[in-house]
Amino acid sequence: MNWEMVIGLETHVELNTLSKVFCTCATAFGAEPNTHVCPVCMGLPGALPVFNEAVLTRAAMAGFALNCHVHHRSRFDRKNYFYPDLPKAYQISQFYRPICENGWLTVQTSAGEKKIGITRIHIEEDAGKLLHDEENGTMLDMNRCGVPLIEIVSEPDIRSAEEAVGYLRKVRAILTYIGVSDCRMNEGSLRCDVNLSIHKPGEPLGVRTEMKNLNSFQSVERAIQAEYERQVAAVESGEEIVQETRRYDQKTGKTTTMRRKENSADYRYFPDPDLPEVRLTDEDMAAITAAIPTLPDARREAYMREYGLTAYAAEQLTAERWLAEYFEETAALAQSPVNVANLLQGEVFALVGARAAEAEKNGAKPLEGRESLPVEPAHLARLSDLLNAGRVNSSTGKKILAAMFAEDCDPETYAQTHELFTVGDDSVLVEAVNRALEENPAMVDSYRKGKLSVEKALMGKAMAITRGKANPERLAELLGQALAAFSSQP
Ligand code: ADP
Ligand code: MG
Ligand code: ZN
Repeated sequence: MNWEMVIGLETHVELNTLSKVFCTCATAFGAEPNTHVCPVCMGLPGALPVFNEAVLTRAAMAGFALNCHVHHRSRFDRKNYFYPDLPKAYQISQFYRPICENGWLTVQTSAGEKKIGITRIHIEEDAGKLLHDEENGTMLDMNRCGVPLIEIVSEPDIRSAEEAVGYLRKVRAILTYIGVSDCRMNEGSLRCDVNLSIHKPGEPLGVRTEMKNLNSFQSVERAIQAEYERQVAAVESGEEIVQETRRYDQKTGKTTTMRRKENSADYRYFPDPDLPEVRLTDEDMAAITAAIPTLPDARREAYMREYGLTAYAAEQLTAERWLAEYFEETAALAQSPVNVANLLQGEVFALVGARAAEAEKNGAKPLEGRESLPVEPAHLARLSDLLNAGRVNSSTGKKILAAMFAEDCDPETYAQTHELFTVGDDSVLVEAVNRALEENPAMVDSYRKGKLSVEKALMGKAMAITRGKANPERLAELLGQALAAFSSQP
């Protein structure tokens, strides 16, 4: 039975303004609980909100970058609900007149490019955080109350976990490129609710359930799989899916019911009488669009067109702005941009990953962004050129790169002082081949008897004699010639 999954995502992103959306309290993450609060964000009676214009600019920029229609006029509404982390008993949001509508983004999947619609983007305030503690019970930290959020609502266009994660990665890439949020899932500045239903392709959409506040790409992926399987099993055994909010439990890998889903009518939305309409003039809009840098899609296409990178490589190298900038700077200095891309995606990413794992093991915070890659673009470009020209081979290249990670240095100087340049001189290579043959008579013997596969082992021996520095193609050629002489003997 081929049930198709249908997914729509609601993504909450904290905007990186210094102060909150309706008061002047700081938004900084990680402060002592309840130190960034005032009567407005604590929701004390009579306190009046004042809108922070820096939020508007960022939200509009996000809208343009996500191909939305950005409205000249939008407005705030009260979303009424009671929850302990929301002291006012309503959240200021935008319901009737959101700032942005009708956008889209594209993701690259294993099946090709997929376009996913964005229904709307609205501005709202974040709620506080409940801290559950064995000794003291549940406590409330209101520092997060009033931190500015945008909520990005997708169309139910997503058809797999891969597309869902691709969508989130693209949202994160675009928003970090334009610099409106740091989009850290582990710190809660990017959070995602997954709406999921199943149906048979061509039939109307099924009833959806919603899984709230997933805080890693991995949990998004796993929650989708678990909920899809649950719904398929339920429907096939004749059970009806009810519209509800479900919790995904990382430990059990299952989703369980939390509460019946409210409909928008339950929130009794009404325009907030404390806040005037928000306006953006044509000049505002022009200034905002002018400040948008080249976005990942455009860069990806440029890398494919100008540098000849594959779509996959180009997508990887544009996933984060610092990385794209690093790549561009390095590629501009190197002979072969494709070689730089290979080097980055292979050895460099491996070393960055190893360093992060090491830091985590030692309980240290892994370095992020450009700081995670301690090598000057000029130095990486030079290493790429040395490899490209065959002046160092891939194994000595690895050694040099490891040294550059330990202490950034010029690879050419390093190769010189450590005598790591490829040996291409025929007399040295012939000597190495001859020694390898002399020292391994048993191998030579079995080669003579027709076991041609020992050629590889002999190559390893000859390479070792040059201490790994031989030009591998030339060495293989010379070894081949020497062996051919044997096999032609009777
Ligand atoms: P609400 O306001 O109740 O949260 P919305 O209509 O705004 O509901 O939709 C919320 C999210 O649910 C959107 O991302 C939308 O794409 C998604 N969605 C709507 N219908 C379905 C469905 N049948 N299956 C999966 N997702 C859906
Ligand atoms: Mg919703
Ligand atoms: Zn405040």
